[in-house]
Amino acid sequence: MHSATRNALFRRLQAANPAPTTELLHDSPFELLVAVMLSAHTTDKSVNAATRVLFPVANTPQAIAALGAEGVKEYIRTVGLYNTKAKNLIALCQQLIDLHGGEVPGQREALEALPGVGRKTASIILNMVFGEVEIAVDTHIFRVANRTGLAPGKNPREVEDALVRGTPPQYRKDAHHWLLLHGRYVCTARSPACPTCLIRDLCEYKQKTKPKPAAKKAGRVGALVRKATRRRA
Ligand code: SF4
Repeated sequence: MHSATRNALFRRLQAANPAPTTELLHDSPFELLVAVMLSAHTTDKSVNAATRVLFPVANTPQAIAALGAEGVKEYIRTVGLYNTKAKNLIALCQQLIDLHGGEVPGQREALEALPGVGRKTASIILNMVFGEVEIAVDTHIFRVANRTGLAPGKNPREVEDALVRGTPPQYRKDAHHWLLLHGRYVCTARSPACPTCLIRDLCEYKQKTKPKPAAKKAGRVGALVRKATRRRA
């Protein structure tokens, strides 16, 4: 994709949503870390359903560690893979207490060393909590980057590198949220809303969806009405 097109694409996403953020509920860096960690392979909605009841009871590493894995499971059953995530969450809290004074660390290496935390989660924390320019690539961003031609890549790391290289500096900080929300609500996996997409003319996807047949049907009905009117006349 040409750099002027990339600029235009981000300019439009920014104009439509000047202050994008995550849909995961959180009130502190620790709550964000827990929510992002729980969101792997599951929806933000199911994570929010769990943290809405968990955080009022326990929202510090000490409090969650005190619940134990079995105790945590009671709160996160709405979340996919909750058994494994409960164990990871307790180990993560213990590591924060033992090595980081109960605080969320600001170094990629320390974040990725936490149980259940991978590159994507670390990137989100570095970006949202520590203001670093990181573009975490999830399934939505991977799809949008490839379809649009913005940053094609065979795996998330290739797409991430291409996005970091090709995103104009002024858009890098928020690129993750814009692309994620675009993928979640517009450029969806099964049925992208190409006819109403605000970057349709910039997108290089060859199989853009067409307007729904309802419009054609309405056209056919209109033609039949006109024909009948002509006959009556
Ligand atoms: S035009 Fe279609 S494929 Fe391209 S970004 Fe928009 S929704 Fe996705």
